[in-house]
Amino acid sequence: MRVIVVGGGLAGLVGALRLAQQGCAVTVLDAAREVGGKLALRAPGLEEFGADLELDVGAESMIARRPEAVRLVAELGLAEQLVHPGPARPLIASRGALYPLPAGTLMGVPVDRRSVANLRGLLTDAEVARVEAEPTVPVRPVDPALADVAVGGWVAHRFGRAVVDRLTEPLLGGVYAGHADELSMRMAVPQLWPRAAAAETVLDGPPLTPPPAPDAPPVFAGLRGGVGTLVRALLAALAAAGATVRTGVTVRALTPGPEGWALETGPAPAPEVLRADAVLLAVPAPAAAKLLAAAAPAAADELAGLRTASVAVISTLIPAAQLPGLSGSQAASGLLVPPVEERLIKAATFSSVKWPWLRDRLAAHELHAVRLSVGRVGEERSLQRGDPDLTAAALADLGDVLGVPAPEPVWSTVVRWGGSLPQYEPGHLARAAAVRAAVRAVPGLAVAGAALDGVGLPAVIGSAERAVTDLLATAGAGPVST
Ligand SMILES: Cc1cc2nc3c(=O)[nH]c(=O)nc-3n(C[C@H](O)[C@H](O)[C@H](O)COP(=O)(O)OP(=O)(O)OC[C@H]3O[C@@H](n4cnc5c(N)ncnc54)[C@H](O)[C@@H]3O)c2cc1C
Repeated sequence: MRVIVVGGGLAGLVGALRLAQQGCAVTVLDAAREVGGKLALRAPGLEEFGADLELDVGAESMIARRPEAVRLVAELGLAEQLVHPGPARPLIASRGALYPLPAGTLMGVPVDRRSVANLRGLLTDAEVARVEAEPTVPVRPVDPALADVAVGGWVAHRFGRAVVDRLTEPLLGGVYAGHADELSMRMAVPQLWPRAAAAETVLDGPPLTPPPAPDAPPVFAGLRGGVGTLVRALLAALAAAGATVRTGVTVRALTPGPEGWALETGPAPAPEVLRADAVLLAVPAPAAAKLLAAAAPAAADELAGLRTASVAVISTLIPAAQLPGLSGSQAASGLLVPPVEERLIKAATFSSVKWPWLRDRLAAHELHAVRLSVGRVGEERSLQRGDPDLTAAALADLGDVLGVPAPEPVWSTVVRWGGSLPQYEPGHLARAAAVRAAVRAVPGLAVAGAALDGVGLPAVIGSAERAVTDLLATAGAGPVST
């Protein structure tokens, strides 16, 4: 079976590998100059700071307590490169001071009564008293038809607005570039959903998350050399499995017909039409909506309704002397800035503190690697300035938050990720199910990627593997036609 995979991000590459392993003749087409999508490394200009030094400019870590990503890492022969962040924790910048992210909280919600004390400092005494009063706040049933709720409204109702503003918002802003009041609890903080669904209070019940088993793996993992190295390993595995990968190929239309699928690529005046027996679409929601318009209009409509956020990542190397707080055993792994603080940066990752392999690589040069993140949904204007301006403003903000002069990096680069992060509104699970149902009705067609089950790397890998199972189940069901 000839299968074309449209999109060579993580979902497309994993899907292609699984299909090739099943004996399919696979071609991956990606619009960009390089595959990998939001898994991306940058090296230019870094040679002088270390041979082969590269930095992740998109995703930089993965959840290790879900199996998909660490399993893939092992399968690709990278188990020895698997690393975990050091013990440093992030800070929250609030009301002119920096506070450690309170231990024992889940997206800002204390997991039990004992963890409430950890909120003191970041929250005022009155705000903490409001948190403590949570069991006395009458519960509100959730809408059974939606079977979901926005994280922000629910947390504010139970614990007070300050918890949302000072904790939940910066944490969700870091992952989704979204707002707590607009994000689905079942997608973004599923551990809260059983309490919300059962209309139960939190603090007088059992802990929200059971304490981890002593032998549980750390929550997060990375790869020595950057998680972007996963892309190279996937490309090698794809080549070994006989798959073809083409870059710089934008698919503009997808049409089913009695002899299989026709995929239109190339410049509009001189299109190149490629044919396949089956197609796996692994592109972001807006592109998927466009390509599905003819073959699966109901799925296209659902995907077209999925909003996305644009962000920029400013990667820098800064002389360690300019950031004295980042040296020593008490150094934090980064900081989060709540939107109520009205700053440009929403997060900074002190990558050379967070990742010991990177600290060791940069130690001889007495440099820190710092990543600054800018942009939340609906705030595209904050990204509309040139790279030098954006970098200078973000560094001024960082210096201000840390109480040091604006750092002057010896190297920096800006990567803009337009429309990169899907915003899962309440009810997203039903939307993803509707997309899958509509696509499954079309033999030889499947969809995968961050639009469906989650933005995290394990969820994206899972979506690709599920799509391949679906595709192989329906592809033999007869010729495709509308
Ligand atoms: C700045 C940033 C930081 C992140 N950090 C983390 C992190 O630390 N940990 C984590 O788990 N997740 C992180 N994420 C999320 C994660 O990186 C993504 O959810 C995931 O990589 C998405 O993979 P994907 O394959 O679904 O899509 P993508 O990576 O977007 O890949 C889609 C591919 O499709 C191609 N394409 C698009 N349209 C067409 C077309 N018409 N024809 C052909 N090709 C097309 C694109 O060029 C692209 O290569 C981050 C995301 C961003 C933006």
